[in-house]
Amino acid sequence: MRLVRAVLAVVACLAVTGCGAADAGAFPEGTAMARIQQRGVLTVGIKFDHPLFGFKDPATGRITGFDAEIARLVAKDLTGSERGIRFVETRPRQREDFLARGVVDIVLATYSITPERRRRVSFTEPYYYADQDILVRADNKAIDEMTDLNGKRVCTATGSTSGDRLRHLVPKAKLTIVDIYSDCLPALQSRAIDAISTDDPILRGLLSQHPDRLKLVGKPFGSEPYGIGVRRGDTAFVAHLNALISRFLRDGQWDSVFMNTIGASGAVADRARPRR
Ligand code: GLU
Repeated sequence: MRLVRAVLAVVACLAVTGCGAADAGAFPEGTAMARIQQRGVLTVGIKFDHPLFGFKDPATGRITGFDAEIARLVAKDLTGSERGIRFVETRPRQREDFLARGVVDIVLATYSITPERRRRVSFTEPYYYADQDILVRADNKAIDEMTDLNGKRVCTATGSTSGDRLRHLVPKAKLTIVDIYSDCLPALQSRAIDAISTDDPILRGLLSQHPDRLKLVGKPFGSEPYGIGVRRGDTAFVAHLNALISRFLRDGQWDSVFMNTIGASGAVADRARPRR
């Protein structure tokens, strides 16, 4: 009987997946997981300009940071190898569109879960909690908290929740809207703007590039729960990714990814870590 079962398992495995990956045969046919497993490559939409979170290292070409390392763990689960992955630069305004058109399988790109976005994409449960904060020049004395942004020139990116919150909370701020947050940096340094405002992991990444010239205000005003985005309505894929995130939170992998990436910037794990 045991032999019969073993033979059946091998036949099923060959029929469904070709048995390439570690968990071969585990995914029902027709699911995103089975497609990615057969392809041997997970395609990930990610930021390229956020050191410590989603960053293309100009020296090596390697994609580094918290989002990148979580993506590699997902790729390992689906394809059997951390190298079964392709990263595609995804700017804030491109996230929904890339998922809808199938340019990427998942978006892992400081992507906050919001009711508006849920109309176009599906999200996992949060895997990280960020806070909106403010980055200024180190010599700044005028901006100490969010309300000080009224009347100031503030830079943020299009297609983000950061701009919406600023419009709502500090309506007198003069917004400069760019395509990617790193475009705000030269403007801050040349004094064309007074501040950059978005999620703290993004600001910490920018700060890490110029620690002597910039400072984080450090008075957060708005929680940003990051989810992994998938094509709208793919509930099987969402369920699988949720189980994976829970596992990473339980088995210490979330903590080691945090410590090796954004944790180095002084971000506090207790604040960022989902409770489950
Ligand atoms: N997390 C926020 C958002 O998804 C702001 C940062 C970003 O644009 O990536 O809109």
